[in-house]
Amino acid sequence: MRDVILQTVNLRRSFGGLRAIDNVTLTLRRGETRAVIGPNGAGKSTLLNLLSGALAPDDGTILFGGDSLVRLMPHQIARLGLVRTFQISHLFEDLTVEEALRAALARGRLCSANSEALRALLARLGLCEQAHRRARELSHGERRLVELALAIAQEPRLCLLDEPTAGLSQPETESIVRLLLDLKAKQQTLLIVEHDMTVVRALADLVTVLHQGRVLAEGTPQEIRLDARVQGVYDFIS
Ligand code: ADP
Ligand code: MG
Repeated sequence: MRDVILQTVNLRRSFGGLRAIDNVTLTLRRGETRAVIGPNGAGKSTLLNLLSGALAPDDGTILFGGDSLVRLMPHQIARLGLVRTFQISHLFEDLTVEEALRAALARGRLCSANSEALRALLARLGLCEQAHRRARELSHGERRLVELALAIAQEPRLCLLDEPTAGLSQPETESIVRLLLDLKAKQQTLLIVEHDMTVVRALADLVTVLHQGRVLAEGTPQEIRLDARVQGVYDFIS
């Protein structure tokens, strides 16, 4: 399994008596785009929190490129190249888009913040005109793009995205999808929690369906769409 980048085995995490993630075994291959779907409360965000180190598992293993992530701190996991998009924090509010990206580039695995890499990234995101605007002046859609850019700028080996198109207009959603397709073409490995099946179909090689903390089904977008068990618990949005 040389091309496996991420593997979880029997991962578990409870909150009180609630099993938010219950024996989740998952394998992601290098270059793959995986979508994780499921009803509200299925455990999708908890899974991302376990992978990024924001939460510790009660049990189970997480291997990332051969390294165990269990008990590592989030910044150590990010340094290994597993990066989660995060909401622009108050620390970034007064920075310009360019300054924020420069900081993210400097934090990346390659620690490179050269101006050429920065300009190329801004151009790829269609953010050249926003480069000198402060984060707090951006629209919701622009913020989501910058949040994605902050993650990409770190040149992750695996990028985790929690509902990247939530609350976005149709054109903004299309910008995000174009950007993600572009990353996918460059063999970027992605794990995306996403409700919109149009987005899922456009991007995902495989879909994992979570339900009550367990993996209910796994397959291509088409297989998942036709799966009677999935239809029983999940209302597809498309
Ligand atoms: P999803 O992202 O699929 O909507 P979550 O992973 O956010 O689901 O939540 C899964 C379950 O775990 C839900 O029942 C939620 O209420 C519960 N949960 C999530 N985070 C916490 C927490 N920090 N404390 C207590 N319960 C939590
Ligand atoms: Mg969630």
